[in-house]
Amino acid sequence: MADLQVLDDAAVLIGDDGDIAAVGSYAELVGQAGDATVTEVDGVLFPGFVDCHTHAVFGMARLADQERRARGEGYKEIAAAGGGILSSVRDVRQRSADDLTDLTRRRLTHLVANGTTTVEVKSGYGLELEAELKQLDVIATVAADGGPSIVATFLGAHEVPEEYRPRADEYVNVVINDMLPAVERQGVARFCDVFCEPGVFTVEQSRRVLEAAARHGLAPKLHADELDPSGGAELAVELGAASADHLAAVSEAGIAALAGSDTVAVLLPGTMMFLGRGNQAPGRRLLDAGAAVALATDFNPGSSPGMSLPLMTTLATSQCGMVPAETITAITVNGAAAVGEAHTRGQIAPGFRADLALALVHDWREVVYWYGTGLIAEVWVGGLACHPRQTPVNFLV
Ligand SMILES: [Zn+2]
Repeated sequence: MADLQVLDDAAVLIGDDGDIAAVGSYAELVGQAGDATVTEVDGVLFPGFVDCHTHAVFGMARLADQERRARGEGYKEIAAAGGGILSSVRDVRQRSADDLTDLTRRRLTHLVANGTTTVEVKSGYGLELEAELKQLDVIATVAADGGPSIVATFLGAHEVPEEYRPRADEYVNVVINDMLPAVERQGVARFCDVFCEPGVFTVEQSRRVLEAAARHGLAPKLHADELDPSGGAELAVELGAASADHLAAVSEAGIAALAGSDTVAVLLPGTMMFLGRGNQAPGRRLLDAGAAVALATDFNPGSSPGMSLPLMTTLATSQCGMVPAETITAITVNGAAAVGEAHTRGQIAPGFRADLALALVHDWREVVYWYGTGLIAEVWVGGLACHPRQTPVNFLV
Protein backbone atom coordinates (compact mmCIF):
# COMPACT_ATOMS: atom_id res chain seq x y z
CA MET A 1 0.00 0.00 0.00
CA ALA A 2 2.97 2.35 0.45
CA ASP A 3 4.15 1.83 -3.10
CA LEU A 4 2.68 4.68 -5.14
CA GLN A 5 3.71 5.29 -8.71
CA VAL A 6 4.26 9.01 -9.25
CA LEU A 7 4.86 10.33 -12.79
CA ASP A 8 6.38 13.71 -13.64
CA ASP A 9 5.32 15.71 -16.71
CA ALA A 10 2.58 13.19 -17.31
CA ALA A 11 -0.54 13.13 -19.44
CA VAL A 12 -3.79 11.19 -19.30
CA LEU A 13 -5.59 10.40 -22.56
CA ILE A 14 -9.34 10.06 -22.05
CA GLY A 15 -11.54 8.24 -24.54
CA ASP A 16 -14.99 9.35 -25.72
CA ASP A 17 -16.45 6.70 -23.42
CA GLY A 18 -15.12 8.52 -20.34
CA ASP A 19 -12.54 5.86 -19.59
CA ILE A 20 -8.79 6.36 -19.50
CA ALA A 21 -7.25 5.29 -22.83
CA ALA A 22 -3.58 5.83 -22.00
CA VAL A 23 -1.25 7.25 -19.37
CA GLY A 24 2.32 8.32 -20.10
CA SER A 25 4.68 11.19 -20.65
CA TYR A 26 3.16 14.45 -21.78
CA ALA A 27 5.40 14.72 -24.84
CA GLU A 28 4.49 11.23 -26.09
CA LEU A 29 0.77 11.32 -25.45
CA VAL A 30 0.13 14.79 -26.83
CA GLY A 31 1.79 13.57 -30.05
CA GLN A 32 -0.65 10.63 -30.18
CA ALA A 33 -3.73 12.57 -29.17
CA GLY A 34 -4.73 13.68 -32.69
CA ASP A 35 -7.55 16.20 -32.50
CA ALA A 36 -8.28 15.57 -28.83
CA THR A 37 -8.85 18.60 -26.63
CA VAL A 38 -5.78 19.27 -24.51
CA THR A 39 -6.32 20.63 -20.99
CA GLU A 40 -3.10 21.59 -19.27
CA VAL A 41 -3.01 21.56 -15.49
CA ASP A 42 -0.31 22.43 -13.00
CA GLY A 43 -0.32 20.47 -9.78
CA VAL A 44 -0.75 16.85 -8.76
CA LEU A 45 -3.46 14.80 -10.42
CA PHE A 46 -4.83 12.06 -8.17
CA PRO A 47 -7.26 9.28 -8.97
CA GLY A 48 -10.65 10.62 -7.89
CA PHE A 49 -11.09 9.66 -4.24
CA VAL A 50 -13.51 6.90 -3.25
CA ASP A 51 -15.53 7.53 -0.08
CA CYS A 52 -16.64 3.99 0.68
CA HIS A 53 -18.73 4.68 3.82
CA THR A 54 -21.26 7.52 4.14
CA HIS A 55 -24.75 8.10 5.47
CA ALA A 56 -25.23 11.11 3.19
CA VAL A 57 -29.05 11.05 3.01
CA PHE A 58 -30.32 12.82 6.11
CA GLY A 59 -32.31 15.89 7.04
CA MET A 60 -31.36 18.15 9.91
CA ALA A 61 -27.93 18.72 11.36
CA ARG A 62 -27.55 17.72 15.04
CA LEU A 63 -25.95 20.88 16.35
CA ALA A 64 -27.39 20.54 19.86
CA ASP A 65 -25.94 17.03 20.24
CA GLN A 66 -22.46 18.40 19.61
CA GLU A 67 -22.86 21.03 22.32
CA ARG A 68 -24.27 18.53 24.81
CA ARG A 69 -21.33 16.21 24.16
CA ALA A 70 -18.92 19.10 24.71
CA ARG A 71 -20.62 19.69 28.08
CA GLY A 72 -19.85 16.10 29.02
CA GLU A 73 -23.20 14.43 28.35
CA GLY A 74 -23.17 10.81 27.14
CA TYR A 75 -25.26 9.34 24.35
CA LYS A 76 -28.01 8.24 26.75
CA GLU A 77 -28.46 11.77 28.10
CA ILE A 78 -28.37 13.15 24.57
CA ALA A 79 -31.04 10.66 23.47
CA ALA A 80 -33.15 11.48 26.55
CA ALA A 81 -33.00 15.14 25.54
CA GLY A 82 -34.47 14.29 22.14
CA GLY A 83 -31.19 13.96 20.23
CA GLY A 84 -29.18 11.02 18.98
CA ILE A 85 -29.76 8.78 15.98
CA LEU A 86 -33.48 8.36 16.63
CA SER A 87 -33.95 12.12 16.23
CA SER A 88 -32.52 11.75 12.71
CA VAL A 89 -34.94 8.86 12.14
CA ARG A 90 -37.97 10.92 13.23
CA ASP A 91 -36.75 13.74 10.98
CA VAL A 92 -36.16 11.59 7.87
CA ARG A 93 -39.50 9.81 8.26
CA GLN A 94 -41.43 13.07 8.05
CA ARG A 95 -39.41 14.76 5.27
CA SER A 96 -40.37 14.56 1.62
CA ALA A 97 -38.16 12.75 -0.86
CA ASP A 98 -37.73 16.06 -2.73
CA ASP A 99 -36.44 17.79 0.37
CA LEU A 100 -34.00 14.96 1.12
CA THR A 101 -32.85 14.95 -2.51
CA ASP A 102 -32.14 18.67 -2.42
CA LEU A 103 -30.13 18.37 0.81
CA THR A 104 -28.21 15.34 -0.43
CA ARG A 105 -27.27 17.12 -3.67
CA ARG A 106 -25.86 20.10 -1.76
CA ARG A 107 -23.84 17.86 0.52
CA LEU A 108 -22.48 15.77 -2.34
CA THR A 109 -21.20 19.03 -3.85
CA HIS A 110 -18.95 19.42 -0.83
CA LEU A 111 -17.73 15.83 -1.02
CA VAL A 112 -16.79 16.41 -4.67
CA ALA A 113 -15.12 19.71 -3.75
CA ASN A 114 -12.75 17.64 -1.61
CA GLY A 115 -11.84 15.35 -4.50
CA THR A 116 -14.35 12.53 -4.03
CA THR A 117 -15.70 11.06 -7.28
CA THR A 118 -17.26 7.81 -6.00
CA VAL A 119 -19.46 7.75 -2.91
CA GLU A 120 -21.09 4.86 -1.12
CA VAL A 121 -24.35 6.05 0.44
CA LYS A 122 -26.38 4.08 2.98
CA SER A 123 -30.02 4.24 3.97
CA GLY A 124 -30.68 3.61 7.65
CA TYR A 125 -32.51 6.69 8.98
CA GLY A 126 -35.89 5.29 8.00
CA LEU A 127 -36.01 2.05 10.02
CA GLU A 128 -39.42 1.33 8.52
CA LEU A 129 -40.17 0.04 5.05
CA GLU A 130 -41.53 3.20 3.46
CA ALA A 131 -38.86 5.52 4.83
CA GLU A 132 -36.01 3.12 3.96
CA LEU A 133 -37.27 2.88 0.36
CA LYS A 134 -37.61 6.68 0.30
CA GLN A 135 -33.95 7.05 1.22
CA LEU A 136 -32.92 4.54 -1.44
CA ASP A 137 -35.06 6.43 -3.98
CA VAL A 138 -33.22 9.63 -3.09
CA ILE A 139 -29.91 7.83 -3.63
CA ALA A 140 -31.11 6.65 -7.06
CA THR A 141 -32.23 10.17 -7.98
CA VAL A 142 -28.91 11.81 -7.13
CA ALA A 143 -27.04 8.94 -8.80
CA ALA A 144 -28.82 9.83 -12.05
CA ASP A 145 -27.58 13.44 -11.89
CA GLY A 146 -24.36 12.55 -13.66
CA GLY A 147 -22.08 13.77 -10.86
CA PRO A 148 -20.03 11.43 -8.71
CA SER A 149 -20.64 7.70 -9.01
CA ILE A 150 -22.97 6.53 -6.24
CA VAL A 151 -23.03 3.06 -4.69
CA ALA A 152 -26.21 2.38 -2.69
CA THR A 153 -26.29 0.31 0.50
CA PHE A 154 -29.41 -0.77 2.39
CA LEU A 155 -28.90 -0.30 6.14
CA GLY A 156 -32.33 -1.10 7.56
CA ALA A 157 -30.54 -2.68 10.53
CA HIS A 158 -28.79 0.55 11.56
CA GLU A 159 -30.55 0.77 14.93
CA VAL A 160 -33.61 -0.68 16.63
CA PRO A 161 -36.42 1.85 16.10
CA GLU A 162 -38.31 3.22 19.11
CA GLU A 163 -41.46 1.22 18.40
CA TYR A 164 -39.55 -2.09 18.56
CA ARG A 165 -37.57 -1.48 21.74
CA PRO A 166 -36.68 -3.74 23.44
CA ARG A 167 -37.77 -6.31 20.83
CA ALA A 168 -34.77 -6.25 18.49
CA ASP A 169 -35.44 -9.79 17.25
CA GLU A 170 -38.88 -8.76 16.04
CA TYR A 171 -37.39 -5.82 14.18
CA VAL A 172 -34.79 -8.12 12.61
CA ASN A 173 -37.70 -10.23 11.34
CA VAL A 174 -39.24 -7.11 9.76
CA VAL A 175 -35.95 -6.27 8.05
CA ILE A 176 -35.66 -9.83 6.72
CA ASN A 177 -39.27 -10.56 5.82
CA ASP A 178 -40.65 -7.17 4.77
CA MET A 179 -37.79 -4.86 3.86
CA LEU A 180 -35.29 -7.07 2.02
CA PRO A 181 -37.81 -8.38 -0.56
CA ALA A 182 -39.01 -4.81 -1.21
CA VAL A 183 -35.45 -3.49 -1.47
CA GLU A 184 -34.67 -6.22 -4.00
CA ARG A 185 -37.78 -5.33 -6.05
CA GLN A 186 -36.86 -1.63 -5.99
CA GLY A 187 -33.46 -2.57 -7.43
CA VAL A 188 -31.41 0.37 -6.14
CA ALA A 189 -29.21 -1.14 -3.43
CA ARG A 190 -26.12 -3.15 -4.18
CA PHE A 191 -24.96 -3.87 -0.63
CA CYS A 192 -26.63 -4.61 2.68
CA ASP A 193 -25.02 -3.38 5.89
CA VAL A 194 -25.78 -4.01 9.59
CA PHE A 195 -24.69 -2.15 12.73
CA CYS A 196 -23.19 -5.07 14.65
CA GLU A 197 -22.41 -3.83 18.16
CA PRO A 198 -23.38 -4.89 21.69
CA GLY A 199 -26.63 -3.10 22.53
CA VAL A 200 -27.59 -2.69 18.86
CA PHE A 201 -27.53 -5.89 16.79
CA THR A 202 -25.74 -9.03 17.95
CA VAL A 203 -23.44 -11.13 15.79
CA GLU A 204 -26.24 -13.68 15.43
CA GLN A 205 -28.82 -11.09 14.38
CA SER A 206 -26.31 -9.53 11.97
CA ARG A 207 -25.60 -12.93 10.43
CA ARG A 208 -29.33 -13.58 9.92
CA VAL A 209 -29.82 -10.24 8.14
CA LEU A 210 -26.77 -10.56 5.91
CA GLU A 211 -27.47 -14.17 4.96
CA ALA A 212 -31.02 -13.19 4.02
CA ALA A 213 -29.69 -10.18 2.10
CA ALA A 214 -27.45 -12.45 0.04
CA ARG A 215 -30.53 -14.45 -0.97
CA HIS A 216 -31.97 -11.15 -2.24
CA GLY A 217 -28.87 -10.34 -4.26
CA LEU A 218 -27.31 -7.84 -1.85
CA ALA A 219 -23.63 -8.25 -0.99
CA PRO A 220 -22.67 -7.95 2.69
CA LYS A 221 -20.93 -5.11 4.53
CA LEU A 222 -20.71 -4.66 8.28
CA HIS A 223 -20.36 -1.91 10.89
CA ALA A 224 -18.05 -3.91 13.14
CA ASP A 225 -16.29 -3.51 16.49
CA GLU A 226 -16.66 0.26 16.78
CA LEU A 227 -16.96 0.48 20.55
CA ASP A 228 -16.51 -3.08 21.83
CA PRO A 229 -14.91 -6.19 20.32
CA SER A 230 -17.91 -8.43 19.69
CA GLY A 231 -16.70 -10.57 16.81
CA GLY A 232 -17.96 -8.28 14.08
CA ALA A 233 -14.76 -8.39 12.02
CA GLU A 234 -14.72 -12.19 12.24
CA LEU A 235 -18.34 -12.33 11.07
CA ALA A 236 -17.59 -10.03 8.13
CA VAL A 237 -14.79 -12.34 7.03
CA GLU A 238 -16.91 -15.47 7.58
CA LEU A 239 -19.60 -14.02 5.28
CA GLY A 240 -17.12 -12.82 2.67
CA ALA A 241 -18.19 -9.20 3.21
CA ALA A 242 -16.79 -6.50 0.96
CA SER A 243 -15.77 -4.57 4.05
CA ALA A 244 -15.74 -4.46 7.84
CA ASP A 245 -16.02 -0.85 8.94
CA HIS A 246 -15.01 1.14 12.08
CA LEU A 247 -12.84 -1.47 13.91
CA ALA A 248 -11.68 0.90 16.66
CA ALA A 249 -12.19 -1.98 19.11
CA VAL A 250 -11.27 -4.90 16.82
CA SER A 251 -9.79 -7.92 18.64
CA GLU A 252 -6.56 -9.71 17.79
CA ALA A 253 -8.66 -12.53 16.34
CA GLY A 254 -10.51 -9.98 14.21
CA ILE A 255 -7.24 -8.54 12.91
CA ALA A 256 -6.00 -12.03 12.04
CA ALA A 257 -9.28 -12.86 10.28
CA LEU A 258 -9.18 -9.66 8.19
CA ALA A 259 -5.51 -10.23 7.31
CA GLY A 260 -6.33 -13.62 5.84
CA SER A 261 -9.26 -12.40 3.78
CA ASP A 262 -10.36 -10.18 0.89
CA THR A 263 -12.60 -8.18 3.24
CA VAL A 264 -11.40 -4.57 3.31
CA ALA A 265 -10.85 -3.02 6.75
CA VAL A 266 -12.48 0.42 6.48
CA LEU A 267 -11.26 2.89 9.10
CA LEU A 268 -13.27 6.00 9.96
CA PRO A 269 -10.91 8.21 11.98
CA GLY A 270 -13.08 11.32 11.60
CA THR A 271 -15.75 9.67 13.72
CA MET A 272 -13.49 9.07 16.69
CA MET A 273 -12.10 12.59 16.36
CA PHE A 274 -15.55 14.21 16.21
CA LEU A 275 -16.85 12.19 19.15
CA GLY A 276 -13.76 13.08 21.16
CA ARG A 277 -12.78 9.47 21.78
CA GLY A 278 -9.16 8.75 22.48
CA ASN A 279 -9.00 5.43 20.66
CA GLN A 280 -8.52 5.03 16.93
CA ALA A 281 -8.61 1.82 14.91
CA PRO A 282 -5.24 0.02 14.88
CA GLY A 283 -4.32 0.86 11.31
CA ARG A 284 -0.66 -0.03 11.67
CA ARG A 285 -1.37 -3.42 13.21
CA LEU A 286 -3.96 -4.22 10.53
CA LEU A 287 -1.47 -3.29 7.80
CA ASP A 288 1.42 -5.18 9.36
CA ALA A 289 -0.79 -8.25 9.70
CA GLY A 290 -1.58 -8.02 5.97
CA ALA A 291 -5.09 -6.57 5.90
CA ALA A 292 -6.25 -4.27 3.09
CA VAL A 293 -7.12 -0.94 4.72
CA ALA A 294 -9.37 1.79 3.33
CA LEU A 295 -10.35 5.14 4.84
CA ALA A 296 -13.74 6.84 4.63
CA THR A 297 -15.49 9.86 6.12
CA ASP A 298 -18.51 8.06 7.67
CA PHE A 299 -20.28 11.32 6.70
CA ASN A 300 -23.40 11.47 8.89
CA PRO A 301 -25.17 14.02 11.11
CA GLY A 302 -24.44 12.41 14.48
CA SER A 303 -20.88 11.19 14.68
CA SER A 304 -19.06 12.51 11.61
CA PRO A 305 -20.42 15.54 9.76
CA GLY A 306 -17.21 15.81 7.72
CA MET A 307 -16.86 15.56 3.95
CA SER A 308 -13.11 15.61 3.37
CA LEU A 309 -11.20 12.44 2.54
CA PRO A 310 -7.90 14.38 2.53
CA LEU A 311 -8.56 15.19 6.19
CA MET A 312 -9.00 11.44 6.83
CA THR A 313 -5.52 10.86 5.38
CA THR A 314 -4.06 13.29 7.90
CA LEU A 315 -5.91 11.68 10.81
CA ALA A 316 -4.85 8.19 9.72
CA THR A 317 -1.24 9.37 9.53
CA SER A 318 -1.24 11.09 12.90
CA GLN A 319 -3.49 8.69 14.82
CA CYS A 320 -3.56 5.27 13.13
CA GLY A 321 0.13 4.84 12.38
CA MET A 322 -0.27 4.84 8.61
CA VAL A 323 2.33 6.51 6.40
CA PRO A 324 1.07 9.09 3.86
CA ALA A 325 1.39 6.78 0.84
CA GLU A 326 -0.72 4.13 2.56
CA THR A 327 -3.44 6.67 3.23
CA ILE A 328 -3.59 7.63 -0.47
CA THR A 329 -4.00 3.96 -1.42
CA ALA A 330 -6.66 3.76 1.29
CA ILE A 331 -8.83 6.51 -0.28
CA THR A 332 -8.35 5.31 -3.86
CA VAL A 333 -7.54 1.67 -4.72
CA ASN A 334 -8.77 0.17 -1.46
CA GLY A 335 -11.82 2.42 -1.19
CA ALA A 336 -12.79 1.15 -4.63
CA ALA A 337 -12.29 -2.45 -3.48
CA ALA A 338 -14.57 -1.83 -0.49
CA VAL A 339 -17.44 -0.98 -2.89
CA GLY A 340 -16.69 -3.75 -5.39
CA GLU A 341 -15.17 -1.39 -7.97
CA ALA A 342 -11.46 -2.21 -7.72
CA HIS A 343 -11.40 -2.88 -11.48
CA THR A 344 -13.01 0.46 -12.53
CA ARG A 345 -12.20 3.13 -9.92
CA GLY A 346 -9.30 4.37 -7.83
CA GLN A 347 -6.42 4.24 -10.31
CA ILE A 348 -5.16 6.42 -13.16
CA ALA A 349 -4.63 3.54 -15.55
CA PRO A 350 -5.96 2.43 -18.96
CA GLY A 351 -9.46 0.99 -18.73
CA PHE A 352 -10.31 2.78 -15.48
CA ARG A 353 -12.97 5.49 -15.32
CA ALA A 354 -11.44 8.93 -15.95
CA ASP A 355 -12.22 10.20 -12.45
CA LEU A 356 -9.51 12.66 -11.45
CA ALA A 357 -8.82 15.22 -8.72
CA LEU A 358 -6.30 18.02 -9.19
CA ALA A 359 -4.52 19.32 -6.09
CA LEU A 360 -2.69 22.64 -6.24
CA VAL A 361 0.52 21.28 -4.74
CA HIS A 362 4.03 20.43 -5.93
CA ASP A 363 4.42 17.21 -3.97
CA TRP A 364 1.55 14.71 -3.50
CA ARG A 365 2.40 14.40 0.20
CA GLU A 366 1.18 17.97 0.73
CA VAL A 367 -2.42 16.76 0.45
CA VAL A 368 -1.86 14.73 3.62
CA TYR A 369 0.16 17.51 5.25
CA TRP A 370 -1.81 20.79 4.82
CA TYR A 371 -4.81 19.45 6.68
CA GLY A 372 -8.24 20.98 6.44
CA THR A 373 -7.07 23.32 3.73
CA GLY A 374 -9.12 22.50 0.63
CA LEU A 375 -6.32 22.02 -1.89
CA ILE A 376 -8.47 20.30 -4.52
CA ALA A 377 -8.99 22.76 -7.36
CA GLU A 378 -10.66 20.73 -10.09
CA VAL A 379 -12.42 17.41 -10.35
CA TRP A 380 -13.33 15.30 -13.38
CA VAL A 381 -15.87 12.47 -13.40
CA GLY A 382 -15.77 10.19 -16.42
CA GLY A 383 -13.53 12.75 -18.12
CA LEU A 384 -16.01 15.61 -17.69
CA ALA A 385 -15.14 18.63 -15.58
CA CYS A 386 -17.17 18.58 -12.38
CA HIS A 387 -15.68 21.70 -10.89
CA PRO A 388 -17.09 21.90 -7.40
CA ARG A 389 -16.67 25.60 -6.74
CA GLN A 390 -18.88 26.57 -9.64
CA THR A 391 -21.88 25.34 -7.69
CA PRO A 392 -23.27 28.34 -5.81
CA VAL A 393 -25.25 26.38 -3.23
CA ASN A 394 -23.46 26.16 0.08
CA PHE A 395 -26.11 25.92 2.75
CA LEU A 396 -26.05 22.48 4.29
CA VAL A 397 -29.32 22.57 6.22
ZN1 LIG B 1 -21.54 4.26 9.44
